[in-house]
Amino acid sequence: MASEKYVLKMNRQYQICINLHGSRQLSEASVSCDWKLQQILRRYEHIIKQERQLEQEENDVGYTGVFRVCGQLLGDLEQLGWERLVYINPSFQEIHLQLLDDGNRKHVLKVQLGSEYPKERPKCLTDLPAKFEVHWTAHSHLQDIFTQFQHIVSLYQEFWDMMGEIDRNTWVLEPEKPNYSAVHRRMAISSGASLQITVDPKHPRVLPECRFLGADQAVSSLRESMDKNIQFWNEDTSLLDNLQMLLGITFPSPSNSKKEDFSVECGICYAYRLEMEIPNEVCNDTRCGQPYHQSCLYEWLRALPSSRQSFNTIFGECPYCEKPITVRMPMK
Ligand SMILES: [Zn+2]
Ligand SMILES: [Zn+2]
Repeated sequence: MASEKYVLKMNRQYQICINLHGSRQLSEASVSCDWKLQQILRRYEHIIKQERQLEQEENDVGYTGVFRVCGQLLGDLEQLGWERLVYINPSFQEIHLQLLDDGNRKHVLKVQLGSEYPKERPKCLTDLPAKFEVHWTAHSHLQDIFTQFQHIVSLYQEFWDMMGEIDRNTWVLEPEKPNYSAVHRRMAISSGASLQITVDPKHPRVLPECRFLGADQAVSSLRESMDKNIQFWNEDTSLLDNLQMLLGITFPSPSNSKKEDFSVECGICYAYRLEMEIPNEVCNDTRCGQPYHQSCLYEWLRALPSSRQSFNTIFGECPYCEKPITVRMPMK
């Protein structure tokens, strides 16, 4: 049947004929071609066999879908530029495209194509501080998604500049490895205190939401300093410079300290990171100041008869110095 034969032309005018013999399985197809091309392909026989095996495993798409999507996609990539392509899976259903932004940061757009592409809207996976909603019509192509991605990446340049400056010049305790979508940073101030900020990615120069973590005596002076200096916040200077002015400090950084000085482990389990948790509860006694994971301290105090519970808070004694300490029930 003519419709089951695919004749492909290549640059050097070789012809390949794929005959499916009325079957819907690519593995049962036979391939015939010029004698010259046969000699060239003989060297790659094992690879071709492997590819056919993979195609066969993609039963959900079927060969017609694969061929059609593949043909469309090759044209789209040609227009987009092959240098954009970083990954494509054997069934041509998932492709990853890269983009270097103004700050030389590499962004990857992951696109999943359905068998009805381009009629069907592809799914996109991105690492951005906002949801990436693709505008798609029956006439849209891969290039349209990429242009929209380029546009949204250009909107967050200042946000990533500000966050990048913080990441390079302070000890970021959380997130452990900040990605492009992360709007939070928790920066070490001293061994017993840290500042968590939540930045508005659309307005990264505006005063962010600030939360101090640490023992009362360590953070009370920082709070006072913040209240006193808040009037001097200047949106013409960077986020990091503004925060340092606000608190009247220079954040400890990789140039003058070690991260271990600030990531003090929990006094109960002796670890720093417990799943997603880091030691957030700190004993308020000036000489003690021992940090604990909230869940470790909660379980510890709950097991002791000397502790008292009121609603979701437990009142007990610090396992180190026996001074009063309270902890709320961790949220699961
Ligand atoms: Zn612990
Ligand atoms: Zn203590």
